Amino acid sequence: MSGTQTKTEYEGLLKRLQDKLGNTSKKASSRLEIPTPQIIWVGKNTIFRNFMDFPKALRRDPEKLLLYLNKELASAGYIAGERVIFLGRKEPSSFVALIDRYIKDYIICPVCGSPDTRTEKNKKLGFLLCEACGARSSIKGNYA
Ligand SMILES: [Zn+2]
Repeated sequence: MSGTQTKTEYEGLLKRLQDKLGNTSKKASSRLEIPTPQIIWVGKNTIFRNFMDFPKALRRDPEKLLLYLNKELASAGYIAGERVIFLGRKEPSSFVALIDRYIKDYIICPVCGSPDTRTEKNKKLGFLLCEACGARSSIKGNYA
């Protein structure tokens, strides 16, 4: 992850994320409300203050989302109440980009674009089941 991203780039990413979700939800029957990640640095650590809002909004297992972020950020964050504490200083924009990717890979139905999906495991393979169109799609990654 680059350490040189500016606040403007961060806001740009946020805007793109919100635009994309806005577009998706036009087609979909329900709207995916994605909070803005609240990221602060305390000492050498990074605190994701509203982490628990994300698994709630996305209807996914907090532990899976945390595993995903830890893997991608090469960190060992742990849940502390509503927050996650990551070791090391991580760029706020990284979280926006990673959540964007997680939504694409683990939430949005590739067939109809609906965010109303749930996941299922079958012989260790992850599947995305769409509640809008009924499609069953395989999931590439291991953090469903
Ligand atoms: Zn669908």
